[in-house]
Amino acid sequence: MIIGFLSEKDTLETRIALIPEHIKKIKKNENDKIYVESGYGEKLGFTNGEYEKNGATIVKTAKEIIETADCIIKVGKFYNEELELMKKGKLVIGMLNPYFETELIKNIKTRKIDAFSLEFIPRTTYAQKMDILSSQASIAGYGAVIQASMHNQKILPMMMTPAGTINPSKVFIIGVGVAGLQAIATAKRLGARVEAFDTRPAVEEQVKSLGAKFVKIDLGEMGESKAGYAVELTKEQLQLQQKEMEKACITSDVVITTAKLFGKKAPILITKDVVSKMKKGSIIIDLAAETGGNVEGSILNEIVDVNGVKIVGCDDLARMYPIHSSQMFSGNIKSLLEDIIKVEDGKSSINYENEIVKAGLIIKNGEITNNGIKEKVGE
Ligand code: NAD
Repeated sequence: MIIGFLSEKDTLETRIALIPEHIKKIKKNENDKIYVESGYGEKLGFTNGEYEKNGATIVKTAKEIIETADCIIKVGKFYNEELELMKKGKLVIGMLNPYFETELIKNIKTRKIDAFSLEFIPRTTYAQKMDILSSQASIAGYGAVIQASMHNQKILPMMMTPAGTINPSKVFIIGVGVAGLQAIATAKRLGARVEAFDTRPAVEEQVKSLGAKFVKIDLGEMGESKAGYAVELTKEQLQLQQKEMEKACITSDVVITTAKLFGKKAPILITKDVVSKMKKGSIIIDLAAETGGNVEGSILNEIVDVNGVKIVGCDDLARMYPIHSSQMFSGNIKSLLEDIIKVEDGKSSINYENEIVKAGLIIKNGEITNNGIKEKVGE
């Protein structure tokens, strides 16, 4: 089996999906080949020589990899010009963002290319080692606090000095999934006073165990989907949440929003009205900006100043720390490939009976195999 790694075309993407040290684990038998595009790891300090030393073959062009590899892996999405060169039956693996990239999905399907979307790896204990959403969200949660501290006109910790005592900044974190938990831990480590809220009731204990305060809001019936994701609130619940969170927002120096709904637009949790009541100099870091944002008026990859309140609309912040996020991403890919490739009679192939493959394979033989995505692309 030939597994190929392509450089990213998206100029905002800083990460790579394979670092040299993971190559040996991916090669399950001596006939396996790992193709890496020339210069693949250069931006992160990994030379072609290091990839070769660890057992990869350096291939001069992306075209050559696309035409020869059985399975082609990227961090992010594939582009039409790449798909055009691919023969049917090939497998592409990446964060394909299928609920939002519907044209791409249709194109892959029409070309009868198989597709594995990394976002669909189950959020289970077994699959944790391959869970790209979690590894990248941890880094993004850390990044959110660092971003906030850079824009904040105050320091985060308390300081008692001969010149006087400085109170710690107050940080309010909305949405306590993987990113939110890491943001709480980071803000606590930096000495901030931290409060947090999430609609999933199970989260309260986790917030408290990190030494933060859980903001209690009774929104009535709430819950989580079978996959563990938050369910969408009703209009009334959302309005109640916006109102109840107002006090926590306007007394905070930093608000970090991470509330996403898998496959859907993010809910607006902070309205313009609340922003207008926040203290001048306070910062909102909106980690949900990529899917519409949790803050009214937030713009992806921009800093919007509303009467002295800065709203930072963040893309995937894991991209700010590409060495560590690539290390984790590559570790996830290594674990995934170890799990889903079987070896029979000296030949490696994807094990289509594997539960992870069943969950992540969204297109097979020209058919979309996931009902939610089928609906999104209008089938
Ligand atoms: P996510 O990025 O989809 O969303 C972030 C958080 O926003 C979630 O905690 C969600 O409950 C919350 N949220 C949604 N709407 C909200 C609202 N209106 N107000 C406040 N908060 C709101 O979440 P994620 O980090 O990808 O995690 C999703 C789920 O997967 C969680 O239950 C998490 O614990 C679980 N998970 C399990 C494992 C595992 O078992 N191995 C690994 C990772 C994540």
